[in-house]
Amino acid sequence: MNDRQRGLIDNLARRNISAFYCNNAQGVQKKVLELIPVGASVGFSGSKTIQELNLIEILKNQGVEVFDQYGLGVDKEEGMRLRQLGIGADYYLTSVNAVTWAGELVFLSAFGHRSAGIANAKNLIIMCGINKITDDLNTALSRAREYVAPLNCKRLNWHSVCLDKGICQEDVCFPPQYKRMCCQTLIIEAEMNPGRVKFILCQESLGI
Ligand code: SF4
Repeated sequence: MNDRQRGLIDNLARRNISAFYCNNAQGVQKKVLELIPVGASVGFSGSKTIQELNLIEILKNQGVEVFDQYGLGVDKEEGMRLRQLGIGADYYLTSVNAVTWAGELVFLSAFGHRSAGIANAKNLIIMCGINKITDDLNTALSRAREYVAPLNCKRLNWHSVCLDKGICQEDVCFPPQYKRMCCQTLIIEAEMNPGRVKFILCQESLGI
């Protein structure tokens, strides 16, 4: 870990967010398993990072109850029910869209389940690849809106303006004409409850 990364860990600690550093993806998997006890329940947001880490399968195999909205045979209605259950689970797993060196965290959400999980979870575990660190809050918001959301719309074939035109036009990207992926923006600047939020920084790139 270099001095700047150590500074980020310290800045998160000042904001009452416990931060851990891992050298690689395997280290992140190990840390998540350390943090979540067998028998606990887990909810999670849609996340390329979680997908890349294969965390849902790993947790299920460890005897953790996962409210899996993307499980085989889960239809739309059941998916929404599982998302709601996930918000109230013992642990909520997510990845950040951008973090500033000062420790501000930026998340986008479409329906709001992700925002609700992050804001209300009993225990929140946030994963972050080195690729998601930005200089300041404006750059973090731009990264989320102008880089992450368009790539996710493409990846998931969401009929948004950025999928149609290749750039964000947030002033016209509204339902029902468009399926807007970034309906809500959540910024975490600090945490009140000691120990509720854990942040895992990975030296490797993870997700988008
Ligand atoms: S507001 Fe619409 S066009 Fe802009 S990034 Fe979000 S989904 Fe894409």
